[in-house]
Amino acid sequence: MTTYSSSKFPLEIGENGWLKTSDSQYFAPSLDRDHTCEWLVIGSGFAGISAAKRLTELRSGDKIILIDAIGIGEGAAGQNSGFMIDVPHNINAKGDYLSSIKKDKDSISLNREAIEFSSQMVEEYDIPQSVYNKIGKLNGAATPKGISFNKDYKKQLEALGEDYHSLDSKQMSEITGSNYYEQGIYTPGTILIQPAEYIKRIVERLSDKIKVFQNSPIKKIEKKNNSWDAYTSQGKIITKNIIFAVNGHITNFGFYKNQLIHIFTYSSLTKKFDDSILKSDPSWGLTSSNPIGTTVRKIKVSENQSRLLIRNTWRCRQNLESLNSDFENSCQKHRKSFIGRFPNLNEIPFEFSWGGRVCLSLNGAPAFGELDENLFSACCSNGLGTVKGTLAGKLIIDKACKSNSSQLDKYENIEKPSLLPPNLLTQIGANLRIKSREMTAGRDL
Ligand SMILES: Cc1cc2nc3c(=O)[nH]c(=O)nc-3n(C[C@H](O)[C@H](O)[C@H](O)COP(=O)(O)OP(=O)(O)OC[C@H]3O[C@@H](n4cnc5c(N)ncnc54)[C@H](O)[C@@H]3O)c2cc1C
Repeated sequence: MTTYSSSKFPLEIGENGWLKTSDSQYFAPSLDRDHTCEWLVIGSGFAGISAAKRLTELRSGDKIILIDAIGIGEGAAGQNSGFMIDVPHNINAKGDYLSSIKKDKDSISLNREAIEFSSQMVEEYDIPQSVYNKIGKLNGAATPKGISFNKDYKKQLEALGEDYHSLDSKQMSEITGSNYYEQGIYTPGTILIQPAEYIKRIVERLSDKIKVFQNSPIKKIEKKNNSWDAYTSQGKIITKNIIFAVNGHITNFGFYKNQLIHIFTYSSLTKKFDDSILKSDPSWGLTSSNPIGTTVRKIKVSENQSRLLIRNTWRCRQNLESLNSDFENSCQKHRKSFIGRFPNLNEIPFEFSWGGRVCLSLNGAPAFGELDENLFSACCSNGLGTVKGTLAGKLIIDKACKSNSSQLDKYENIEKPSLLPPNLLTQIGANLRIKSREMTAGRDL
């Protein structure tokens, strides 16, 4: 008998501001008895909800269960900064620049496929613009190094034939209300979401067609003849197929050993403030032109009130446990980055600070495919899970249901996550690299 078990489960870090300010009242029950189904989707993040949705389309007559270890919207899917980005996000600044064009074109077409799939859900489920807003994003530069990153980015966008606008410091200041940025690039295709609200609303609507359980960690799965038994503390689920949509937690079950990098990153959200104290566009989102730099978002919360979100700091923790000191240091950095950008808002405190997990592979490849008979993985979204998770969730169902497409072929042709040194060396190496980049980021952080 084949058994895979996990002794580690997700934990919350701090207080997730998106969840605390979400309007959705949706809560799913916990599993309290045994169930039988054809499809069990483990994990209710972007990959899990997308897999569940696709199953309702391709296997509408089958019994489908979606289960999560914690509350719906509490995981990384509800903690992120909400940038669903269509264009390449990692600036391929150096090296054989043109050889990346084909790869980038494929990646853009897959990202747009994912965004299209999510847009259809949004339309079908009446999700409002305040939760899913196609508003584009800024790539802000506050240092000469940041400007040089943006120069390379512009070159790349031009070579790809992608739409963008360059913005000078005055235009950046008019949009953001901050004099901090020297220069920026605007790309129009990004959707800004309220991530916790997005996840909760979609799962609530899915629950009309499928069974959903929260606060029910899967501890063990066991292969029995033609089916799988998945165990929680309160009961088991007997199922024909299992989809792992647990991102980095897949390593807890013994898969992709020494192939995945586990990174934590952190956010803070201010209290509401009156719009009269920050003259800027009503809503905007900015990622730093320097990949290690600070993400900022302005979120409209009522007719004349807003909040600002700050995200920065990366730390590699291969045991999937964040240190309290990492969290505390990140909160101090958030404050410094906030005051630097908005000195006139120095009286506005943060109301919520939190952290969450991101899963990467060294070569940027997903952990995607069939792991055992009728046991599938749609994991490792390489830090862009709003889009890559959505895509992997849809395509893993296409694969499991043998619904072939050119997008599935493209995705399956991506290489597998490459092998890493042992965990301790990976962690030391990654953290040294992160820290040296942070030290040279200057005002972009
Ligand atoms: C602060 C922060 C900011 C970020 N900003 C962005 C951004 O702006 N744009 C972007 O694209 N990405 C961003 N990310 C990354 C993004 O959130 C993730 O890539 C994305 O959530 C991955 O989606 P997923 O569905 O693959 O996995 P997850 O969202 O991690 O979902 C996996 C789910 O599996 C559940 N699970 C795990 N183990 C078990 C088990 N044993 N039993 C049952 N359930 C289990 C977890 O509880 C979790 O809910 C950010 C992340 C963080 C933390």
